[in-house]
Amino acid sequence: MLYTIISIVQVKKELLNLESSDLFGLRVHRFELKDLDYLPANSHIVTLNFEILVNALYDDELKTLINQADLVIADGIFVSLLSFIKNGIFIKKLAGIDLAEFCIKKYSRVAFLGAEKDVISKLEKIFVRKIVFAHHGLFAENSEEETELVKKISISNPELLLVALGSPKQEKFISRNKKTIENTIQIGVGGAFDIWAEKYKRAPKWMQKLGLEWFFRIIQEPYRLKRFLYNVNRFFHLLLK
Ligand code: UDP
Repeated sequence: MLYTIISIVQVKKELLNLESSDLFGLRVHRFELKDLDYLPANSHIVTLNFEILVNALYDDELKTLINQADLVIADGIFVSLLSFIKNGIFIKKLAGIDLAEFCIKKYSRVAFLGAEKDVISKLEKIFVRKIVFAHHGLFAENSEEETELVKKISISNPELLLVALGSPKQEKFISRNKKTIENTIQIGVGGAFDIWAEKYKRAPKWMQKLGLEWFFRIIQEPYRLKRFLYNVNRFFHLLLK
């Protein structure tokens, strides 16, 4: 019996050793949904998209905590292409929202933190059978309120915590509080709550397949264009340096 348990643990450890690709000092993993079974119960997953990557290249704290995460997935065509062009390593893109939906189906105790109050109220109805904790994202970072929220999340004993505070707030929140919220897969999911609550639409399938989700978001939320162009500029500035 003991021998069987030891060998299962060993197999899991081996499978966890995912191939990774180095993008200017940031690690991204080759990961498929089936690998989820081999993740430790207490894992921080980062869904790395173009904007998070550029921000991390200019923010050492963010870069370090992304590299400390247990899993970094390629959330978008840009990260996928960059890995191929730079290192010859093909990493298929996996949208953070698809990973989150897969996880909600897989786990039965789910905590939701983030987005606006009306969005969270809708999620409470949509995921009524799974929800063990839900709270909006309008609280101050590193505050007493945050400490209280973390305590409540921990007491609710979730298997999965989805954090939608935007980046880098959500990555920093998870990194700060990961140890207090034990045995929980923790994922920063950006705008996923807004899509589930139908505040915004997700790009149609054909756009998702072509890797154009970012373009659809800009059409729907034009204020993003300025920030996107700023990050494109910052990225090329770094390349030229
Ligand atoms: N959000 C939040 N608290 C904040 C800032 C943002 O809950 O202090 C939520 C916001 O309501 C939205 C999500 O975070 O649901 C934004 O996710 P998105 O990926 O669009 O953020 P980005 O990082 O692209 O700005």
